Amino acid sequence: MISVDEALNKILDAISPLGLEKVSILDALGRVLGEDVFAGRAIPPNDNSAMDGYAVRTEDSCGASPETPRRLDVIEEIPAGTIPAKMIGQSEAARIMTGAPLPLGADAVVRMEDTRKDGDCVLVFAAVPKGWNIRRAGEDVRQGEKVIPRGAVIRPAEVGILASLGRSFVLVHQRPLVAIVATGDELAEIDEAPVEGRIVNSNSYALTALVRECGAVPLQIGIARDSRKDLVAKFRAARRADLIVSTGGVSAGDYDLVKDIMKEAGNRMQFWQVAMKPGRSLAFGALGDVPAVGLPGNPVSSMICFEQFIRPAILKMLGHANLFRRIVRARIEKGIEKKKGMRQFIRALIRRDGDGYTVVTTGDEGSGILISMVRANGLIVLPEAATAVEPGELVTVQLIDDSLERCPVPGF
Ligand code: AMP
Ligand code: MG
Repeated sequence: MISVDEALNKILDAISPLGLEKVSILDALGRVLGEDVFAGRAIPPNDNSAMDGYAVRTEDSCGASPETPRRLDVIEEIPAGTIPAKMIGQSEAARIMTGAPLPLGADAVVRMEDTRKDGDCVLVFAAVPKGWNIRRAGEDVRQGEKVIPRGAVIRPAEVGILASLGRSFVLVHQRPLVAIVATGDELAEIDEAPVEGRIVNSNSYALTALVRECGAVPLQIGIARDSRKDLVAKFRAARRADLIVSTGGVSAGDYDLVKDIMKEAGNRMQFWQVAMKPGRSLAFGALGDVPAVGLPGNPVSSMICFEQFIRPAILKMLGHANLFRRIVRARIEKGIEKKKGMRQFIRALIRRDGDGYTVVTTGDEGSGILISMVRANGLIVLPEAATAVEPGELVTVQLIDDSLERCPVPGF
C-alpha cells in the first residue's frame, strides 16, 4: 500500500500536458494559453478624449473661471469613431466626445460641465492643465509588449484584451478525452425498469459530470460486466481516449478483474491500494500506452478518488500550473475518531464564520451514501498520523466547489 502523496506523484509523473490547438477566443474561456501573446498594436491606438467636452490648447483656458470665462471658436465637432479634420489654433476649440481622437494642436479636454455653448463659440469656465482628460496612446497596452504569458488561464478579462488586440484565435492546450467505464454485473442502465438486485450505474454519470467540470471531454463507454471478455472489449474501446477511468472491480473479490486486465501483456499496473479512506482499493497503470485509473466502485469513494487523483491529472493534461482545489482551515464543531495510518476524507459542509470558517460533517460516512456528498461543499482532510480530532480543533478542508455561502440544508 502506498501513501496518497506517493500515489499522486506516480500518477502525475505519468501524465504530460497535451499539445496545442487553435480556438476562437469565444471558446477559450477557462483554457490554458499555449503561446505568449504580444500586442500587435497599442491600446488605445491614439490619444483620445476621456470625457465629452471641448478639445483646447491649455493656454486658451488659462485664467478661466465661472466669473471670467474664456470664449473660443468651435471649429469642428468630433464624435467617437470619426477622425478630426482640422488643427486647433489659437482661441479655437473642437467639440469632442468620449473616445474620439484628439485633434492636432489640442493638449487638453475641458469637460462639458465646465462649458456653455454660445452660438458658434463656447464659453470655458475652468482652466485645465496639459493632458487633462486625455487617454494617451498605448496607456493600456504598449505595442510589442507581452500582454499574456504562456500558461495563463483565459478568463473574461483575457478574452477582452485579446479582442481589443484583434486576436480572434489563440493557441491553447487541447482538452483530454477521458473514457469512463463502469464495471459490475449488478449495474443497470439509467432508463431500465428497476429489477431486484440491480442498481443504476450512477458512477458513469457522476464521473461524466466531474470530467466536464474539469474542462475535459467525457467518453462514456458504458457498463462492462464482470467477465474478462467483456472488460477486455470495453477497455479496448476506451483506448482511443487520453485517459481511462473505470469504477468497480478493483477490490480483492473473486469478480474484481480490473487489476488482472492491467497486468496482462501490453498493459501495466503501477500500483494498487492507497492508504486512504474512503478509496483504498485504487489501481493505477496503463492499458496499452493510455494511462488508466481503476477507481473503487462505491459512489462516494469513486468521487473522492477522482478529486484527489484524476482531477489533478486532467488539469495537468490541460496545461494548468495549479492542479489543486483550494484548501482552508476551519473549526470543527464535533470531534472525530480516526484510524491511524490512513489519510481520511470526510464529507463536510463549510461555512464562513467571521474572519474564518466552521465545518460540520454531512452525515453517514458510509462510502455508498451519496447524499452526504450532495450536502457537502468540502472534504475534511485528516492526516495519516492523526488518531482523533477534538471538538473546536482547526482542521484542513479541501473545497470541492465555490458555494461557501450555500444555504444550510435542513437538518444541518
Ligand atoms: P466493487 O468495487 O465493484 O465491488 O463495487 C462496490 C460497490 O459499489 C457495489 O456493490 C455497488 O454497490 C457500487 N457500485 C459499483 N459500481 C457502481 C456504479 N457504476 N454505479 C453505482 N454504484 C456502483
Ligand atoms: Mg463490482
